Amino acid sequence: MSEGTIMRAQIRLGRIAGIAIGLHYSWFIIALLITLSLAGQFHSTQPQWSDAVIWSAAIVTAVLFFVTLLLHELAHSLLAKAKGLRVRAITLFALGGVSQIESEAPDAKTEFWIAIVGPLSSLAIGLVCLGLARLSGWTRGAEADTPVAAVLVWLGYINFLLAAFNIIPGYPLDGGRVLRAIIWFFNRKPAQATQWAARVGQAVAFLLILLGLYQFLVGRNFGGLWLAFIGWFLLDASRSSYAQVELTEELRRRTVGDIMDRDCPTVEAHLSVEDFVHEHLLRSGRRCFIVVQGRRLAGLITPNEVRQVDWEQWPQTSVQSVMRPAAQLRIVAPDTPVVEALKIMGREDVNQLPVVSNGQLQGIFSRGNIVGFLHNHAEVLRH
Ligand SMILES: [Zn+2]
Repeated sequence: MSEGTIMRAQIRLGRIAGIAIGLHYSWFIIALLITLSLAGQFHSTQPQWSDAVIWSAAIVTAVLFFVTLLLHELAHSLLAKAKGLRVRAITLFALGGVSQIESEAPDAKTEFWIAIVGPLSSLAIGLVCLGLARLSGWTRGAEADTPVAAVLVWLGYINFLLAAFNIIPGYPLDGGRVLRAIIWFFNRKPAQATQWAARVGQAVAFLLILLGLYQFLVGRNFGGLWLAFIGWFLLDASRSSYAQVELTEELRRRTVGDIMDRDCPTVEAHLSVEDFVHEHLLRSGRRCFIVVQGRRLAGLITPNEVRQVDWEQWPQTSVQSVMRPAAQLRIVAPDTPVVEALKIMGREDVNQLPVVSNGQLQGIFSRGNIVGFLHNHAEVLRH
């Protein structure tokens, strides 16, 4: 599942191997549905069981289902950790779990194993559950007649279903990630691999929706609605994964000159701090000013520099004497890639970079420019 589907409202359950485990409130709806439908099923197939037995079996099943989902996500997360990636949290919600793995897998093979270990562990859990059910006297094809066997058989089949659903080759499902890893391995272009896998995800999603609607409308089967709903969910997730890659790629192609502010506020070097504060800083509401001597960049001044001076001194102090001089500033050229500029800002811990070419100030590049760029492009992609 993708990180985009993570929702905030959740209960923190604690940590396993340093990974925060959270339970989203929507999970309770599914737990309730599972408990109710299992209780109904036990009532009709095992009328000899007491209400207490039926309800405890149903509740235990719902809780253990949660444990198996958690094991599936832990398999992804622990393998990612073993490969040196940072895993922040696992969140379980109505439709499954999400592992928040912070960094991208470094290569296609790592991505492949991190993705496939989830469905493999669900398959293994399913086999273990059915194996245990068998040890407790259940035979395949027969109705489980003890509560323990009934719980194990249900968990066994639901985990097979989980493995099957997750291996559907539609990004961002596990199977889609496996597909992405395989494409990545052959064409060596991770971004393009994501886009192809997301396209397949959309195609699979359309098929699920059509199949589900057909079952519901023609076959009068309510299960079809579930299928259509899952398809719709996958369609949404794969669409947003596609758009995300598009955006990142778009940003990767841009240079500082493409998105910098050209009309950044400038002040003359000889101006007094007093005039600077009243005429520029307070009036414009901006926080960063380029100090110029003619057209040449002399330095940068922000409220931080103003604060170094006692306000009584403001009229006698020039902007030039308190500014951060150009020689101390990290500057970039207009053809610096945006991604590179971001790295510099992070390393130097600054929020803006003057853009200079041939000693002439061209503009200023700030984090705000990127936010603006992403905002505009996200709007375009959505339509
Ligand atoms: Zn998974």
